[in-house]
Amino acid sequence: MQSISILGATGSIGVSTLDVVARHPDRYRVFALSAHSRVAELAEQCQRFRPQVAVVGSAEAAAQLQTLLRAAGLSTEVAYGPQALCDIASADGCDMVMAAIVGAAGLASTLAAARAGKKILLANKEALVISGQLLMDAVQAHGASLLPIDSEHNAIFQCLPAGYTRSMTAHGVEKILLTASGGPFLHRDVNTLDQVTVEEAVAHPKWVMGRKISVDSATMMNKGLEVIEAHWLFGAPADKIEVVIHPQSVIHSMVSYADGSVLAQLGNPDMRTPIANALAYPERIASGVAALDLAQIAQLSFLPPDYQRFPCLKLAYDALRAGGTLAAILNAANEVAVQAFLDGRIGFGKIAPLIQEVMSAIPNRQADDITALLEQDRQARDHAEALISR
Ligand code: NAD
Ligand code: MG
Repeated sequence: MQSISILGATGSIGVSTLDVVARHPDRYRVFALSAHSRVAELAEQCQRFRPQVAVVGSAEAAAQLQTLLRAAGLSTEVAYGPQALCDIASADGCDMVMAAIVGAAGLASTLAAARAGKKILLANKEALVISGQLLMDAVQAHGASLLPIDSEHNAIFQCLPAGYTRSMTAHGVEKILLTASGGPFLHRDVNTLDQVTVEEAVAHPKWVMGRKISVDSATMMNKGLEVIEAHWLFGAPADKIEVVIHPQSVIHSMVSYADGSVLAQLGNPDMRTPIANALAYPERIASGVAALDLAQIAQLSFLPPDYQRFPCLKLAYDALRAGGTLAAILNAANEVAVQAFLDGRIGFGKIAPLIQEVMSAIPNRQADDITALLEQDRQARDHAEALISR
């Protein structure tokens, strides 16, 4: 029996994780759940999964949750705030941590899990983008393990040999081929991109996801963040990571080897597959996802990415190549820009130029600790906000 803390339990990944966990009550027990503000949903999850601890974002939310839980006769301990997230990520009572908070808000708790030597199921790609070196070092130093949940990285993980040591040359790996659906605007007239609505941008053709990652998929910043994520997870330099557009989203990514073999992982686009894979690794368990019907799909197609249409993808490659804290700056500017778009403050077409402007305005420094990284993150956010207000 393994126990799990699920950070971001009410989100798209959190809900899918609970769906898989519920299929295997003999294998997994929920130690803790967290949500930011959706208290009623978290209370329902607590009734169903009986965690020891539940964490929310504020004192008010904690009081509301407490009331709901007591009314339901539950004695779940209620806590709130960033430190409480770190506590449930590092508690002795949990073996595994699902890091599924969105954005930089998930960084501290993911690091706490690494420092406590946990098995980390990593959905929160932003944590790696901001602090790749720091997080990988903490994982190594404290004997933690990092299993990718992002469908592409989980696919690559499955296509790499067991015991892969983050050295491509040592394992005869030539290239990582990251597939991308192309999102909702793959074929839209580029001149009309500034007029797209929030509803159009979050309507992903293949995946149902949270709003932030859905906008990132529409700009293809999501793929850019994933290029950086792949760099840290697999020790791959930027020029060995190639993005391939594959609109059917059946192949979730590929690994190309020195002998000419290309290994791919295929499946229906449903996050319960990578979640089940990481939960049970190296075993395989049922996820609830239907088997692929290839005759029904009939065709798999591929095309190269268009940087004119998707400038955010290029910005992410630039940040990876530059090193230092430029990826943290890119991520912070993107989080602010996406929120501003979702709030109706800027047009879709302004997201990329805004990020680019922040990247050139904030000096790229080296940062060896979390405080220095968060300072870069804060400066980038402030600058992005100032540009938007102007
Ligand atoms: P979501 O918006 O559906 O859920 C986010 C969760 O984080 C919620 O539970 C919310 O309560 C919590 N949260 C939000 N802000 C917070 C804060 N400031 N402090 C603490 N908790 C906070 O997002 P999602 O789609 O589930 O994505 C979660 C992460 O997984 C993201 O990093 C995303 O890039 C990654 N991811 C998601 C998918 C997917 O299919 N949804 C696929 C790959 C990777
Ligand atoms: Mg992905």
